[in-house]
Amino acid sequence: MKLHAGTLVISNGQLVDGNGGPPVPSATVVVQDGRIAYAGPSSQAPVVDPAARRIDAKGGSILPGLVEAHFHPTYFNVAALEDLDIKYPVEYVTLLAAANAKLALECGYTAARSGGSLFNIDVWLKKAIESDITFGPRLATSGREICGVGGLMDWNPDFRKIGMEGLVLLINGPVEARSAVRKLVKDGIEWVKTYPTGDAAAPDTNDHHTLCMTFEEMHAVVGTAHNHGLKVTGHCRATEGIINALKAGYDAIEHGTFMNDEALDLMLARDVPCVPALYFEYASIQRGPEFGMSQPVIDGHQETLDGGAESARRILKAGGCLGMGGDYGFAWNPHGDYARELSFFVNFVGFSPTEVLTCATKNGAKILGRLNEIGTVETGKLADLLIVDGDPLADIRILEDRSRFIAVLQGGIVKAGQLSRPKL
Ligand SMILES: [Zn+2]
Repeated sequence: MKLHAGTLVISNGQLVDGNGGPPVPSATVVVQDGRIAYAGPSSQAPVVDPAARRIDAKGGSILPGLVEAHFHPTYFNVAALEDLDIKYPVEYVTLLAAANAKLALECGYTAARSGGSLFNIDVWLKKAIESDITFGPRLATSGREICGVGGLMDWNPDFRKIGMEGLVLLINGPVEARSAVRKLVKDGIEWVKTYPTGDAAAPDTNDHHTLCMTFEEMHAVVGTAHNHGLKVTGHCRATEGIINALKAGYDAIEHGTFMNDEALDLMLARDVPCVPALYFEYASIQRGPEFGMSQPVIDGHQETLDGGAESARRILKAGGCLGMGGDYGFAWNPHGDYARELSFFVNFVGFSPTEVLTCATKNGAKILGRLNEIGTVETGKLADLLIVDGDPLADIRILEDRSRFIAVLQGGIVKAGQLSRPKL
């Protein structure tokens, strides 16, 4: 991805640097050749070339670009699980995924971690974004997911003879688990996404207390993935599934819904990050009826929301690492609504705006394994920034309103926001 050439000065705004401390009022950020050369009080800013490009933050806020830590670029706002893999051909879904990635960048998300993708579209999307062919967040890729036969993601009946190969590699036992990971190695992915447990979406056979993989299968996935330098994560709702994942050596936990003391201790012992994705549950409860969701499914989402919110509060209090991201790409939870996750954590879960912003920036970068490059506004890092007309610490919902974005930058280049609009 190209970097801005020359000097760029951003001033006249408060700096929220992503480290969780108080904001710096009247701040200046100096960017040199796409990297941050200074970030701090304007009174101490270095003297720069008068010809440098300048951006006026208009008394608003300068933040690190946001990180979507559980992003499904190929989920195209579907109303049913089955639509995820058979509704459209892969060629069309690739175009939809590119549009979703561009939208995420316009929403202030300069980096994202895929939570699973149809085929390995996210791998090629990442290549296109890195080559400046299309706009989108800097991506960490997952490709196809792994699930046990008969588990949550195995929904096509055998008589259709189409399997689930576009979206999921189905496995029986540790041998097939290893074989599935080896296929993903060839695809060029970074994170192996698995399904240790079910979900409220499938109340009859794979609800949120059901296990969809055995410990032996999960352990085989981790051993093979780590051998090839890949990381492993999993959709973990049931307590036993979370504990299995942590004992098997998982590198992250998605959702972490029903945490008990043992699970929390295991998570903290290795500082394993968790991405709760709670707004999805709230949106399912609020809007599920209009999309024909049954009462048992909605009841399950309520139990999941209550359990997940309590677990997130416990992890935060204990000093664990939480990322913000959220399964956007369903009809009731469409792409573009990403920042609703942040508002939800402030207004319903009880986090402070500063805590949420740290989760959505610094922790996101840490989960991506790129904290040395992005995630905070600090000298030496890439100038991936979000400049907002307003104060998200006073009202986090400002981040839901793209019209308030003065600029979204990657490597110092304005990619979205008011300043990217063509001047008439
Ligand atoms: Zn997901």
